[in-house]
Amino acid sequence: MKYDTRMFKLLKNEEIADGIFDWTVENPELAKLCKCGQFVNIKVPGRVLRRPISICDADENTLRLVFQVKGEGTKIMSEMKVGDEVEILAPLGHGFNIEKGKRYCFVGGGIGVPPLLFSAKQADDPMVITGFRNKDLVILQDDFKAVSDKVYLATDDGSAGIHGFVTDVLKERLDEIDEVCACGPIPMLKAVAAVCKDKVKCQVSLEERMGCGIGACLVCACKTKTDEGEAMTHVCKNGPVYDAREVFYE
Ligand SMILES: Cc1cc2nc3c(=O)[nH]c(=O)nc-3n(C[C@H](O)[C@H](O)[C@H](O)COP(=O)(O)OP(=O)(O)OC[C@H]3O[C@@H](n4cnc5c(N)ncnc54)[C@H](O)[C@@H]3O)c2cc1C
Repeated sequence: MKYDTRMFKLLKNEEIADGIFDWTVENPELAKLCKCGQFVNIKVPGRVLRRPISICDADENTLRLVFQVKGEGTKIMSEMKVGDEVEILAPLGHGFNIEKGKRYCFVGGGIGVPPLLFSAKQADDPMVITGFRNKDLVILQDDFKAVSDKVYLATDDGSAGIHGFVTDVLKERLDEIDEVCACGPIPMLKAVAAVCKDKVKCQVSLEERMGCGIGACLVCACKTKTDEGEAMTHVCKNGPVYDAREVFYE
């Protein structure tokens, strides 16, 4: 089975930072199929279009999903109660490719950080660099410290960790890394890709507004570079993870 829709039971819904919610949902049939860097598409009661959310963590029975309230859909999700049933389409997209024996660095910014937790768990001796606007938005640091002893934190205003951007840390540590996996806002991904260029391989996870999540509606079309020239791909199906060299960062 590639992907399917199932009812998941909401086991936990906790606000872990201002406007950021941490869900645990249970459905053994689909949870065990999920791979790092993939996402799910959530049916919000009363709304037609589903909301895509990355898989923050997974085990045989449950998925962890961490989301920020942005508009109506995520607001409704934040108000759901433990015990509620949630209709979820999963697992979707191509995630990060993690090979044994390579030294990976996981670089995340803001609400792009959650999918890097499950991904870091797949790597041998991972390094993790996360960045946030300020200390009130910092999430998942203890979770990362449980899987890595090389966890670096940066904030734009210096209110937690080092005062600066994730790329300031990355530049200093490039010789300790074979490959980077990054997720965050486009300007951050562009800067990370520039630091890695011609030095280490880099995979980036893109976020694009999407409708169906399975490549049928074509809302998330995205122009990419290939050896043959430019090509249109779909973030939901061909992505969300791409080789950093394939992406136009506009
Ligand atoms: C592959 C993928 C993974 C994502 N993972 C996460 C995550 O782990 N945590 C998290 O907080 N957010 C994540 N997002 C963004 C999240 O999907 C949007 O913030 C959310 O859909 C907004 O819905 P809304 O109803 O609250 O906002 P509204 O702006 O009211 O939404 C209106 C419509 O626009 C769509 N939409 C709005 N913003 C986005 C967006 N950035 N991307 C895609 N569709 C959007 C919604 O699906 C909805 O149909 C991800 C997006 C993608 C594409």
